[in-house]
Amino acid sequence: MSMPSSANYADLAPLRREVPLAPFTTLGIGGPAEFFFEPQKPEQLADLLTALEADGTPFRMLGGGANTLFPDEGLRGAVVHTGGMRRLFRDEPGLRAWPGVTLPALVRSAMELGLAGVHQLVGVPGQVGGALAMNAGASDWGIWDQVEEVTYWVPGPREGLKIEAHPAAECQPRYRDGNLQGAVVLEVLLRLEESTKKAVKQAQDNLLRRKNQSQPVRLASAGCAFKNPAQDAAGRLLDQAGMKGKRCGQAEVSPLHANFIVNLGGATAQDVRALLEQMEAAVLAESGVQLERELQVVTPT
Ligand SMILES: Cc1cc2nc3c(=O)[nH]c(=O)nc-3n(C[C@H](O)[C@H](O)[C@H](O)COP(=O)(O)OP(=O)(O)OC[C@H]3O[C@@H](n4cnc5c(N)ncnc54)[C@H](O)[C@@H]3O)c2cc1C
Repeated sequence: MSMPSSANYADLAPLRREVPLAPFTTLGIGGPAEFFFEPQKPEQLADLLTALEADGTPFRMLGGGANTLFPDEGLRGAVVHTGGMRRLFRDEPGLRAWPGVTLPALVRSAMELGLAGVHQLVGVPGQVGGALAMNAGASDWGIWDQVEEVTYWVPGPREGLKIEAHPAAECQPRYRDGNLQGAVVLEVLLRLEESTKKAVKQAQDNLLRRKNQSQPVRLASAGCAFKNPAQDAAGRLLDQAGMKGKRCGQAEVSPLHANFIVNLGGATAQDVRALLEQMEAAVLAESGVQLERELQVVTPT
């Protein structure tokens, strides 16, 4: 794809070409992005997206890459990484965050201020924009439960401004799905509860202890590969189907947690896709349940 021409992209956001995506993901997998943008401010991001859309250049948002599997052959078009937009402000009724704030930074800052709510994201890698897209969380709780207001860039033909602030009540997030429908998060105001640093830290420590015991936290993974079906756990169904320890190439179903795929070193996207298919088929045959993928499997463009 040739570089789009209707805007001077270098003025809008730092741009690199043919950037390997693997280092930007927790699985450590993925070929190069043809154009790799790293906007530094939400307004820059909005202008960039508007220009890319006007030029018909396909783009994909990337936060911490903690829930994304990129293809081995890479992607044509643009990847827009939010990692340069890390400002976090104290604002009533909690914290206001740009999309590239990392979840560990958010959790730590809230704890330091004695604010409860996002403590349930302890041990979860990624960034705020990606977390809103995924409605990241624990059990039935998701980050959207704390959203007061969110500012989006909205795609599609429309005259004038495409940036809008929405009260949380207007949005309809679902379990592990922010239901953004192509909108891109520019900023969010999170509603947090006044507590004490000690109480928040204690709650975090308890959650973290449990995660460290039950998940392969030291290995390269993308967290849970599948969503939990209603009234059940995907990990339990996968375990029952005998998937723990199964491998395709260098991708393995974690022997510790059957819903985690780990990269033992040098796994390809093809290995992970083949393993995902085996996992789905095994659970369908054993329990009659069709699992739904949580992992965002990106197809080549
Ligand atoms: C060890 C480990 C443990 C984990 N534990 C949990 C857990 O307990 N709970 C949980 O819910 N998840 C968990 N995860 C998964 C992951 O951390 C979360 O889904 C996280 O929110 C992903 O954020 P990210 O920024 O890395 O998203 P990415 O993988 O970068 O992107 C995910 C999706 O969000 C989109 N996106 C990114 N930025 C934006 C934006 N600004 N606007 C719109 N869309 C955007 C991307 O295009 C993509 O579709 C875990 C992962 C790992 C590796």
